[in-house]
Amino acid sequence: MSLLKSLALNQTFDSNSEIVEFIKQLETENVYLRRGHCESISSYNNDRRNQIVLDEKFKFKRIQYMCLHFGNHKSRSVKGARLNQNVMPNNCPVQIRFVLNPVSEKFEIKVLELEHKDHPVSAEHVKTYARKRHMNDEALSFANGALSAGAQPTKIRKILQDKFGSNLISKDLINMKQKLIGNLEDDWSNSVSFLDSLQQDPNNVVKVLHDPEGEVTAIFVQLEKQRKLYKMYGKVVVFF
Ligand SMILES: [Zn+2]
Repeated sequence: MSLLKSLALNQTFDSNSEIVEFIKQLETENVYLRRGHCESISSYNNDRRNQIVLDEKFKFKRIQYMCLHFGNHKSRSVKGARLNQNVMPNNCPVQIRFVLNPVSEKFEIKVLELEHKDHPVSAEHVKTYARKRHMNDEALSFANGALSAGAQPTKIRKILQDKFGSNLISKDLINMKQKLIGNLEDDWSNSVSFLDSLQQDPNNVVKVLHDPEGEVTAIFVQLEKQRKLYKMYGKVVVFF
């Protein structure tokens, strides 16, 4: 029986780490939930309305896990400062709420909503949403290694997909690369303005080749003064 189907109200868990482990196991069944609202033991104990004092070792009184599309989108940006981007919440009701029972000292499932609404739930979609968060360590260290060695994100992506089953998009890899080497974006815009300045001279040839996803695969530069140098050679044989 699948883990998901085995879930039931009032099912108990001994600790937060057991819950975390369970949520992680659900991912093998293509169920990806993220943590939502949680109430820590300290904030519970600080609330004077609560009569009992709970043991800090439980870390949480309440733990919520929910679908990436759970709830209404609330903008956290300063009003008008930027446009809403990547708005995921889509009124999906899927959530699991765990509440610590102080008598049994176990977490019980108090809310269990498992039917997704208003968004696609195919394994492929889920994988794409999950992307980097669910990359295994091996895949992650491969990606980091390959990126720092200067490999092309599109190539890495293909290998990640074939070898590790990770569904990263090129943008994720570019973000990872940026993290690794710092201000890649600045470097890139500097390169663009440098290439632009070369192109101002109509006798220079500057070509930037893209792959179908718009990623730069090759930059070809031939300056006028380079071409003049060619004349100094006689016949040249080139092997590829
Ligand atoms: Zn959902």
